[in-house]
Amino acid sequence: MSINKKMFDLGNKRSVIRELFEFGKKRSAEIGAENVYDFSLGNPSVEPPKEINDTIKELINGDNTVLVHGYTSAQGDLSVRKAISDFINKNHGLNLTPDNIYMTCGAAASLTISLKAILNAGEECIVFAPFFTEYKVFIENAGGVLVKSMPRESDLQIDVEDFASKITEKTRAVIINSPNNPSGVVYTEETIKAIAYVLQEKSKQFGNTIYLISDEPYRELVYGNVKVPYLINYYKDTIVCYSYSKALSLPGERIGYIAVSPNAEDSKNLYLAICGAGRSLGYVCAPALFQKVVAKNVDKTCDISVYKENRDILLENLTNFGYTCVKPDGAFYLFIKTLEPNALEFCEKAKKYNILIVPCDDFGVEGYARISYCVSKERVVKSLPAFKALAEEYK
Ligand code: PLP
Repeated sequence: MSINKKMFDLGNKRSVIRELFEFGKKRSAEIGAENVYDFSLGNPSVEPPKEINDTIKELINGDNTVLVHGYTSAQGDLSVRKAISDFINKNHGLNLTPDNIYMTCGAAASLTISLKAILNAGEECIVFAPFFTEYKVFIENAGGVLVKSMPRESDLQIDVEDFASKITEKTRAVIINSPNNPSGVVYTEETIKAIAYVLQEKSKQFGNTIYLISDEPYRELVYGNVKVPYLINYYKDTIVCYSYSKALSLPGERIGYIAVSPNAEDSKNLYLAICGAGRSLGYVCAPALFQKVVAKNVDKTCDISVYKENRDILLENLTNFGYTCVKPDGAFYLFIKTLEPNALEFCEKAKKYNILIVPCDDFGVEGYARISYCVSKERVVKSLPAFKALAEEYK
């Protein structure tokens, strides 16, 4: 083959989630979509705030639409970056400028750019299990090596001792994702402080900066009085990878940003490396219309009460049926222990009841499945007898 084998393999092998999605479509054609309990994808089900569609209409009905649709600066329109840095400063008491912000096509692009900007061949990036499956692809594409840190089993918080033991002289980056996909766990302030302390000490010990990459597409999706610490306030060498995919229900529009901590050791050079990585990957000038749309709606969030209701219904009922899980405080995922050790087999059995849930081996842990509850309340309620019947198979 004269093509790149690694890329061929990535394109050729469908992810478990995509497989399930395809199965769901086939099954829907056979028995009707309303009878398939598809909890496979993290595709938001709530409408974007009304202001989003109003802003789009305003922008495209105005004069000078050639400017609306035209190229912006490679790193994003200046006024857009200013609206975002002002918003971050107001909410988190910081002093970012537009030159700390790089506009991207969502969190996936934010991550690939950040990793490319930091890693040299063979350098290590630590991720906390359970983790978003694409981290492996992104890290390896940047020439890096993924190193996994296992969580505390009781609450799926970071096991700080295990984390410290994974840091070597080759560690250059750590990715943290809170609220977490797939567990829904929000890392506590205590955990974050402990992580920051370990990173400071290890950076000193090895004489290298270790960057903390905060992957936070679910920042606003938290239920109750739970706070998601803003990592730049805890560790100076932080890069925030943000996306509007989930909080504004705009995943298909591909819009997000990278915020580089102004307090990082070499913040200006880090930002330049991010501009260089964006350039080398062809990720310049994020979608222009949507840059302007989000800039006018920086403080908006879709109605997350629907997700909270789904979480509460599932948590209560599934627990009663005999499933166990850590109470998720955020995102829109319930992470259950499978009722047999082999998660793949358990999720295959669930298909018999037309329940589509994701086995989590590829997320770095065994014996768990993810239920994405960003679906209608009707689907959640209608699925309960099927979850009950599945549990009864194991009694
Ligand atoms: N990071 C995590 C943890 C995610 O769950 C996702 C998407 O589901 C992404 C990154 C990618 O997000 P985006 O659609 O903004 O590229």
